[in-house]
Amino acid sequence: MESLYSTACNTLSYLFQSRPPEDFEVFTPKGETDNSQEPTVLETRGHGHSSCSTASRAVEEEYELTPPDSPAAVPPQRPEQDLSGGETTSQGPRAEEQTPQRLRLLLVGKTGSGKSATGNSILGRAAFTSKFSAKPVTTAVRSGTRDCAGKTLEVIDTPDVLSPQLPLAEATQGCCEAIASSSPGPHAVLLVTELGRFTAEDQQVVRRLQEVFGVGVLAYTVLVFTRKENLDGGSLDEYLRETDNRELAWLDAVCGRRHCGFNNRAEGAEQEAQLQELLRQVGVVLWEHEGRHYSNEMYRHCGQTLLGDGQGHDGEDRPQDESCWEGLRLIQRASEDTHKCLLRGAPI
Ligand code: GDP
Ligand code: MG
Repeated sequence: MESLYSTACNTLSYLFQSRPPEDFEVFTPKGETDNSQEPTVLETRGHGHSSCSTASRAVEEEYELTPPDSPAAVPPQRPEQDLSGGETTSQGPRAEEQTPQRLRLLLVGKTGSGKSATGNSILGRAAFTSKFSAKPVTTAVRSGTRDCAGKTLEVIDTPDVLSPQLPLAEATQGCCEAIASSSPGPHAVLLVTELGRFTAEDQQVVRRLQEVFGVGVLAYTVLVFTRKENLDGGSLDEYLRETDNRELAWLDAVCGRRHCGFNNRAEGAEQEAQLQELLRQVGVVLWEHEGRHYSNEMYRHCGQTLLGDGQGHDGEDRPQDESCWEGLRLIQRASEDTHKCLLRGAPI
């Protein structure tokens, strides 16, 4: 199985430096030096109770909506980079800052969309249980790793943590587990959806993703469409260009048209090609954020309390100090309240 991925792995270093996408119409964070791409709305609130207007102001200060044809939307020229760690030849970070040693990919999406199957395709082995079922098969956050071009690729699979139907306590705990397991923050979020079936339920998951992780998370998101074989050799780009599903078209645009397809039953060259395409899209996310992973208040809390170490141990050897978890749950709920307020009336 390893050989199936060799080409993709050998080109990973290049992919991390991949060229930017053509469209830059997503929320553009102003500060580039801060690791966090989330508005610091929590700091404007008292005891977890925010007012919408305060939160909106904080976001307006932190974000600007950049039209696609604005000069500000044009990304800087990609500098010539020396992967051995030499200085860049034009303004920009050193190459090693854009090539993290450990690359964390967080899988999210509704139950049955194919998250676990996609995780297995990426890892090249059956690390996660994936099967057709009327009930959720994945019941806990799990992670798996593989080596790739001397770097570690970590895939974090999640259960149904973003379902709007979940009771509050269960949803909070599930989201906190996902956050702790992807601490100090994912380099890319893979939003998995079944090709041709982007439903109201998927839209709710997108909304929950923004509420739980913050509105800035879509700038780190790659759309992954499973059951790619249903395209019958057709092009995913064309499918997305021509879709009359307005919500899907909007999401694709907001995610900077970072998308790829997976046939999780594929083998051989086809399996290798789709992994390469995913890594190319992840490379675009890395390029846009100069190699920095996503972060927010919850991830910072995890870092401060050593909840989640980003080492891919399924959380088993994390400190189990209940007060740290309680702190995380409180921050998560407060952050979620704020983002719910901010997103009221927004599309999706
Ligand atoms: P999860 O709940 O999101 O983790 O979904 P699973 O990974 O458990 O997948 C649900 C079902 O969809 C399983 O029966 C998978 O075999 C199937 N599945 C996932 N991806 C694909 C795909 O690309 N093609 C096909 N034909 N089936 C898939
Ligand atoms: Mg699963």
